[in-house]
Amino acid sequence: MLFREIIGHEQIKEKLIGTVATNRVAHAQLFYGNNGYGKLALALAYAQFISCRDTDKFRHRDSCGKCPSCIKYNKLIHPDLHFVYPVASSTRMKDSKNPTSNQVLKEWRQLLERKNYYITLDDWYHEIDIDQKQASINTRDCSKIIQTLSYTSYESEYKVMIIWMVEKLYHAAAPRLLKILEEPPEKTLFLLIAEQTDQILSTILSRLHLVKIPAIENQPIYDACRQRLNMSEATAAEAARLANGSFTQAVALLEMGDELSENFRRFRDWMRLCYSMDVVALLKISEEMGKETREKLKNFLRSGLIILRNCLLIGFDMGNLVRVTREEQDFYTRFSPFVHQGNISQFVDEFDKAIYHIERNVHAGMIMLDLSLTVLKLLRAKRPQPTSQE
Ligand SMILES: [Zn+2]
Repeated sequence: MLFREIIGHEQIKEKLIGTVATNRVAHAQLFYGNNGYGKLALALAYAQFISCRDTDKFRHRDSCGKCPSCIKYNKLIHPDLHFVYPVASSTRMKDSKNPTSNQVLKEWRQLLERKNYYITLDDWYHEIDIDQKQASINTRDCSKIIQTLSYTSYESEYKVMIIWMVEKLYHAAAPRLLKILEEPPEKTLFLLIAEQTDQILSTILSRLHLVKIPAIENQPIYDACRQRLNMSEATAAEAARLANGSFTQAVALLEMGDELSENFRRFRDWMRLCYSMDVVALLKISEEMGKETREKLKNFLRSGLIILRNCLLIGFDMGNLVRVTREEQDFYTRFSPFVHQGNISQFVDEFDKAIYHIERNVHAGMIMLDLSLTVLKLLRAKRPQPTSQE
């Protein structure tokens, strides 16, 4: 992965290059930020840059892509580059009773290459056929880290260990990881990746140098949608607007296609039931939604978040930022007064919470019923009075 292949994030790239140029590479770093912002891609570009042997790399502000180290990095087969990620028993493993990262390394490399290093947890579960199971970074893998890093590096100055989605660390494995971070082997670089820091043990967090990866700017997402996904100008503009700084979200929007308008209709009908306080119908619809695949349901809730955000914009007289069809317009006109400063943050929190729980396999029908009842209350929340300016 070259820095120039990263979508956006010019400042962060410069900062990372700067740490190498000034010999200030912290031995354990956590790249954190939302899904689709490019954390893993940045970590890989950073590791490749550190390892690149081209003497001109600082002048070019990028790895050369051609030296022996870069060639191995391009294929993710550098002997000093190691990965740990969440796994669970899978038919793809030889020893599926004792799942390890190594057993699905081939699948990992394939997925990364195919998705150009922008992947989601769902992509990964799907790739190794563990859609419905709880995956974790397990004790076996954490013990293996010590073993792997105790060898001297083969070819580079540094051995690099990339640990993806640290929030999935199995609690019993935490002491082992902590021990390695406290007493790191010589010349090792730990690049940990997480979406949120609040699910990581504070004892581990305190050992890490934090690198916040923010949302990608709109323009680079637009450019990537045009060049990498071959979207038309209009679709790319729409995707960039709706992606909230996440490239994987833009990809998901493209893949969603018709699902988007179907989700709109379902959301509209659901909100009507919530508004009319039809609890019996809500019970039924929640049960039905609970039977859908997790992925479909999560997409539905994400579309809901977009619709709610649009309502708020319309309420603020910024409807020009919202592009809607005529059918949608009618709904927005009626519904947007019910979404305002007094309830939007709660709406967002509750939807995020539901997505979070659905991801973790809690009974989806119950989650949807809970959410319906909360929405029912939120729709009745008082609009804050505008403060008078005069
Ligand atoms: Zn190179």
